[in-house]
Amino acid sequence: MRPLVASIRLDNLKHNYLLARSQHGGRALAVVKANAYGHGAVRCARALADVADGFAVASIEEAIQLREGGLDQPIVLLEGVFEAEELALVRQHGFWPVVQSAEQLAMIEALPASARGLTVWLKMDSGMHRAGFFPEHYAAAHQRLMGCGKVERIVKMTHFARADEPADSATRTQIETFDSVCAALPGDESVANSAAIMAHERAHRQWARPGIMLYGATPFDTSHPAAAGLRPVMRLTTRVFGTRELPAGQPVGYGGTFVTERPTRIGLIACGYADGYPRLASTGSPVAVDGVRTRIIGRVSMDMITIDLTDLPHAGIGSEVELWGDAVGVNEVAAHAGTIGYELLCNVKRARFEYS
Ligand code: PLP
Repeated sequence: MRPLVASIRLDNLKHNYLLARSQHGGRALAVVKANAYGHGAVRCARALADVADGFAVASIEEAIQLREGGLDQPIVLLEGVFEAEELALVRQHGFWPVVQSAEQLAMIEALPASARGLTVWLKMDSGMHRAGFFPEHYAAAHQRLMGCGKVERIVKMTHFARADEPADSATRTQIETFDSVCAALPGDESVANSAAIMAHERAHRQWARPGIMLYGATPFDTSHPAAAGLRPVMRLTTRVFGTRELPAGQPVGYGGTFVTERPTRIGLIACGYADGYPRLASTGSPVAVDGVRTRIIGRVSMDMITIDLTDLPHAGIGSEVELWGDAVGVNEVAAHAGTIGYELLCNVKRARFEYS
């Protein structure tokens, strides 16, 4: 059996959820969209079921998957609905859709008179300029929803563009914009993603929306004290299944982009970009062999990667190699590929998932 394994430590997930909620206060939606950032949505949601106040997913398909998996907590649809027909399922399952556009608002208003008691999350564009009602239109949207007879409760929400840059003033400005309109409107509020939970106390409201921190990765590109207690959930490992000795001066892999500088022992491991390992993280990206760090050399191929075993005389066929997890942070690998840990976690494919 191909030895690529994603070990998902569900006790770490629960630990991180409880940490997020205690750092924020109030209630917390566990963000399990994109298959729980690649970790397995139903398995992760079930592991949190006895503590989570609710879940957040992108779309109705993801939400139904959770209901069919036996989860009966509130589920927020972060993208809202795409077509009016989806609102029948929203009502049937009691989902909480985000309303972030005039079109989505009109779909709610157009529901039959028998539709009552909806909870919706009304999104303001407080500065990210991706989705939501502009501040000057927000109160009117709120009034229309409350007045249409279909909506019982509105949670006011917004999303930050730069909460992962604590020194930047953009988040403060977004909070001020949000508050300047929302202070006069009734209802709970939700503004904090992971970075805001950890770094922006003024963003703490009735509901938090932690995502990446649940999976044990920090949203910050440098170390932040609030991230210290997080425990990595996924450990992606494989094994060495080939070795070779090369003299100095030999090219390795596609394009010969790496040339040995000394007699080098190479290990071949079963993982490649088709598994979600980023091709851009070629020579230099860290891996850990039986817990000892070394590095990739040469280009990442579709199914295989070559690593440097020269200084690891005890390593050989069968040695365990951690791509990321405990000895190697997913953000470290992401930095080598010019991307973020979120993307790497979401992209894990073809691995055997083992839950503990
Ligand atoms: N809230 C919204 C609206 C989001 O889109 C996301 C993620 O993209 C989150 C919360 C969770 O963000 P993070 O994973 O940075 O905690």
